[in-house]
Amino acid sequence: MDQFPLFITLRERRVLVVGGGPVAARKVRSVINAGADIHVIAPTLCGSLATLAENDTITHDARNYEAGDATDFWLIVAATNDNAVNLQIAEDAHSVGALVNVADTPKVGNVSFASVVDRAPLQIAISTGGHSPILARLLRARIAAFIPKSYGALAQLAGDYRDHIKTRFDSLNDRRRFWEAVLTGPIARRLLTGDDAGARAQLEASLQPTSSTPAQSDVSVLGGSIEEHPGEVYLVGAGPGDPDLLTFRALRLMHQADVVLHDRLVSDDVLALCPPEAEYVYVGKRRADHAMPQDTINETLVKYAKAGKRVLRLKGGDPFIFGRGGEEIETLAEANVRFEVVPGITAAAGCASYAGIPLTHRDHAQACVFVTGHLKAGELQLNWEHLVQPNQTVVCYMGLTALAELCHKLQMHGLAADTPAALVERGTTHHQRVFTSTVSELPSQVANASVKAPTLIIIGSVVTLHEKLRWFTPWVAGLQTEGQTYPNDT
Ligand code: SAH
Repeated sequence: MDQFPLFITLRERRVLVVGGGPVAARKVRSVINAGADIHVIAPTLCGSLATLAENDTITHDARNYEAGDATDFWLIVAATNDNAVNLQIAEDAHSVGALVNVADTPKVGNVSFASVVDRAPLQIAISTGGHSPILARLLRARIAAFIPKSYGALAQLAGDYRDHIKTRFDSLNDRRRFWEAVLTGPIARRLLTGDDAGARAQLEASLQPTSSTPAQSDVSVLGGSIEEHPGEVYLVGAGPGDPDLLTFRALRLMHQADVVLHDRLVSDDVLALCPPEAEYVYVGKRRADHAMPQDTINETLVKYAKAGKRVLRLKGGDPFIFGRGGEEIETLAEANVRFEVVPGITAAAGCASYAGIPLTHRDHAQACVFVTGHLKAGELQLNWEHLVQPNQTVVCYMGLTALAELCHKLQMHGLAADTPAALVERGTTHHQRVFTSTVSELPSQVANASVKAPTLIIIGSVVTLHEKLRWFTPWVAGLQTEGQTYPNDT
């Protein structure tokens, strides 16, 4: 190991940054949050540093670096664009025993700056020992995606109770078990959903002595009171298929599930991100083949939660858009089961983006209506007058079976036969196909194309934009091998 990672307190320490350009600005930004007393020596400052100097957040000496400037500083950053000057600064810093960082030549100095995931008071610092700052930054982005902001609150809570718990439990082992129960149990989960007060109240309650047991250091009782919670349900929108479209919160809750209830719309790629040790329950939901009726799904959620499980109810798209999520959580609320709803990217948004069809557009549509093509008593019952209005986009979910009827009735109610219409098959997945046509021609165009569900129908003049924009949608790059080229390629 060439370098040893240390976290140092810079509050009110004198820090000298030599240089006034973007590199110096980046270094200043890194130390500013640590409360350092920052002095910058540079003839001129770039915009962001100039603003900091105007606000007196930093002290600026408008001149070149001179011998003797390095005295009286704790940390010195050499960030000029003159290598010889940077080397001189490093030498001066070494001679007065200050810590020194030299931008772009970290080996000359004795400290380097890490790429930091800041979840204060929690800090995750990444260093490649100066070998590849870009790799460190890429890694930081990955880690940051998995550590929600609320982890800072978790660290804060642990810090606030640390001394108290030390006096409460004599043995290190008891303390460790206590903290493990807190940090992996319902208290942490509450905190991570933003319920700081609730989490603290639950922690306090778990510390109260019970009448039947002496409180002092009986961690099993204490742990027990934390563990004995009645389970909960996470109603999570899994998006339309591409796992990249999951939210951070969805991913976090997926990782902690004991039981996963999923249906046909949840893609295998998304399911693969759930814990392998979880119990998986397929609840179906093909149009005609409801593997499990909705009532039974609702009851199953309650049953598992009451058994103390963390139940992940994964839904395609968004749970509240044609997802019957509302019914599921009504049942949970009636049964007094805690739940959390995580929105997802609905099929309309996902398919539209991946097909290059903006749902609204200043020149085409000022409104967008989502309707269901699900048949009621064997026919489509929709507000047709409303759907044939100009300057709007109509998106039809579950419309494949009723496609011909939909297109026919829209025309009967006045929609022009040449109104552009598209069908997106298995949108956002690698199987995505987009058929564009007109409202009169679309049914016959897709009739012999062996189209597979799920499909989404988009009607309105925004569909014409597909021709131009499809080249820039996520999967088109993958289709290049099939002989397609970008329109501007020569
Ligand atoms: N809650 C879901 C919709 C459930 S209804 C959401 O917000 O997206 C099921 C319908 O959604 C399907 O019949 C289809 O019309 C649409 N759908 C879902 N995923 C799709 C996909 N990847 N491609 C095309 N349509 C999709």
